[in-house]
Amino acid sequence: MPDRLKSAVRDIPDFPIPGILFKDISPILADPKLLQHSIDLLVNIADDQKVDKVVGIDARGFIFGAPVALALKAGFIPVRKPGKLPYKTYEESYSLEYGENTLQIHQDAILPGEKVLIIDDLLATGGTAAATVDLIKKLGVEIINVAFIIELNALNGREKIDAPVSSIIQYT
Ligand code: AMP
Repeated sequence: MPDRLKSAVRDIPDFPIPGILFKDISPILADPKLLQHSIDLLVNIADDQKVDKVVGIDARGFIFGAPVALALKAGFIPVRKPGKLPYKTYEESYSLEYGENTLQIHQDAILPGEKVLIIDDLLATGGTAAATVDLIKKLGVEIINVAFIIELNALNGREKIDAPVSSIIQYT
């Protein structure tokens, strides 16, 4: 039940800067039943569609993305902050709820025509996920879904994302 996940999320006011109510997923990660449940619900979003690659967004998208990839018998691809990927990369810049960032992916990470599921922990303004979608579209792939544990509805982030969007728990 998504409600069990929702009650485990911890609100931290004014982190990392004043005015941000940070949704801390650490209690979900620390509880094996909740962690398994969150992975199962993300896997369900693929809804029996074939997934070739799961893309996890730096950094909390890695925690959820790799087990989802294993469950779907797909590969795992990290989208990373600058300076971390050693091979040739494509990159995309975007603004965050608090600051600015650039994301990179290896140019050969996904083959043209492959089906991709993108995973991150939380959808806020949508800048991060929209940049990831734009980055991945450069590779000529099909994005099946962009899936989150948490969506902050009031920020309308999903409107920025040029792909189907799903979330397990929502806050208004
Ligand atoms: P955005 O690009 O605004 O959708 O921001 C999404 C990214 O920033 C996600 O990777 C989240 O991990 C992080 N993030 C943004 N806002 C919050 C928040 N209120 N609580 C926790 N994480 C957040």
